[in-house]
Amino acid sequence: MLPFLLDAGLVRGRLVRLGPALDEILGGHDYPAMVAERLAETLTIASALAGALKYEGVFTLQIQGDGPIPLLVADVTSAGDLRGYARFDAERLAAATQGTVVERCFGKGYLAFTVDQGPDTDRYQGIVALEGATLADCARAYFERSEQLATEMMLAVRPPRDGVGGGAGWRAGMVTIQRMPLGPRSPIFTAEEAGESWNRSIILLRSLREEELLDGAIAPARLLNRLYHADGLVTDPARALRARCRCSADRVRGTLRSFPRQEIEELKDENGEVVVTCEFCKTRYHYSATDLEAVYVTETDAP
Ligand SMILES: [Zn+2]
Repeated sequence: MLPFLLDAGLVRGRLVRLGPALDEILGGHDYPAMVAERLAETLTIASALAGALKYEGVFTLQIQGDGPIPLLVADVTSAGDLRGYARFDAERLAAATQGTVVERCFGKGYLAFTVDQGPDTDRYQGIVALEGATLADCARAYFERSEQLATEMMLAVRPPRDGVGGGAGWRAGMVTIQRMPLGPRSPIFTAEEAGESWNRSIILLRSLREEELLDGAIAPARLLNRLYHADGLVTDPARALRARCRCSADRVRGTLRSFPRQEIEELKDENGEVVVTCEFCKTRYHYSATDLEAVYVTETDAP
């Protein structure tokens, strides 16, 4: 994720590229193409959104609807740890052939973005209805409404390809630009010049081709330089993104403890174990009768 500024801060932007992280996240699931592509897009959008925020925490982008994909979640921490999963109904998905991609996948629904900065802090949440034809359109509506800034973006996702050169994995790329208000930091510009600067940055963004955006051989800084070399381009240090789930035996224990013991007992399998599978990374956590005993003993002893 590479943040950048144009024209002394009149335009703020971010470039996101994802490759191996998508392979790792999507490789752990067996999603139909329509689901995998939407999750890849959502992970990319979440990474760009999180990049706009300065504080530490977990940023979650969640899509819920009444369509064949009722739930899709992507989250990213300020450290760049990315994860995601989707629930879907394969039959309904196969039958959904009419309408836009968003209608076919999600039906009527909404996109919600949550920032969680840990216990004892308020959770921030913003929501928009899914009103665009693509997830990029919906995300743009979200950016504009929540941040009250004119926003343009380009998003492209490419599934793995077989064959030539041994094949290639998932690729995703996104560039967002936002028009910043004229302020004390930009005294040398008139309102008219600021408008021209914004229009030019949009036209240049639209000149970007999908192949360039997705081409891992073109480094992010070089790609931006090609686009905006004449527009006072300044880049901030890039931030790394990687696939990493935040689940742990400790967290699962905490979740188990939040349910009445009787309900957990009923989940025991034929071996007398309770098995909890993380929806994000598919890690399975096993709890024997003795382990469960310990879970509840800890609760009683806790202050
Ligand atoms: Zn996990």
